[in-house]
Amino acid sequence: MDRRLFLGSTAAAIGAAFGLDRVNAAPAKRAIRIAHLTDVHLQPELRAVEGFTQCLRHVQSQADKPELILFGGDNIMDAFEVNRARTDLQWGLWKKVLKQECSIRSEACIGNHDIFGWNKEKSQTNGMEAEYGKNWAIEVLGIQKRYRSFDAAGWHFVALDSVQPGAKPATYAAYVDEEQFDWLAKDLQANSSKPTLILSHIPLITALPCMLPRKAPTDPLEVYPGAVHTDSRKLADLFAKHPQVKLAISGHIHQQEKLVLNDVTYLCNGAVSANWWKGPLLRVREGYTLIDLYQDGQFESQYVTYGWKAEPVEKKAE
Ligand SMILES: [Zn+2]
Repeated sequence: MDRRLFLGSTAAAIGAAFGLDRVNAAPAKRAIRIAHLTDVHLQPELRAVEGFTQCLRHVQSQADKPELILFGGDNIMDAFEVNRARTDLQWGLWKKVLKQECSIRSEACIGNHDIFGWNKEKSQTNGMEAEYGKNWAIEVLGIQKRYRSFDAAGWHFVALDSVQPGAKPATYAAYVDEEQFDWLAKDLQANSSKPTLILSHIPLITALPCMLPRKAPTDPLEVYPGAVHTDSRKLADLFAKHPQVKLAISGHIHQQEKLVLNDVTYLCNGAVSANWWKGPLLRVREGYTLIDLYQDGQFESQYVTYGWKAEPVEKKAE
């Protein structure tokens, strides 16, 4: 079939099916409730294991329990610039807590802190290790590839790999590499009839860097290439060709944001660890996000705190 013809003839149907014109329509039916848990930063310190356990129990004791958990990356405190033993310790805790405390289906994406040994000096890596880079996270998280897609309850989910090597050694930049972008374009084309959620660790688009303090009111906004995707425009242009893309969710900034641009909603969903387990970060507490996805492509989300009280920082210094 001629793809252009196919797209042209289905554009109106897609618009109707995805609720672009449902002012007088019947209430949408929920397809699935999911929970987005991002930036857990699991570590032996700061009672993080206890905190993560409390969070997972909170998710699963919801009266209206989610059926799927999406882990948004930075699942462990850090593997990027620590050695093998320290990384092994953190992934060991992750596996243990998940096995004991999570009975819901879960999927995950990879965060910058989940990447093993990109700081070769600090991690004492040479790049030839079997677990180097994203391999260790891929294995522990049980994902087939650093980026992929899957379906649940009629929705299509795309888990992106945000984190690519930066311009200098031991740094990273946020973008979708060429191979991944080609795959993404084909994947969206092949799944055009399903409302779609994009999961990434680093925000594809965000206004949160505006919150960075500047010395003088005339200073420009400086955003390092690891803070937000550097290919936002390219991704937004791609999504514009695929109106089934409704929602993109991320973490990384540990702040809460809802940004709507050209019919796509971008949510940055706080952090399970808030200020890396040292309490709230600015005004955001330890939490996760419940998202209801509807059959017609609409959705609702709410940030849920789970009552975690961080260790007082003074006490930690003892
Ligand atoms: Zn991050």
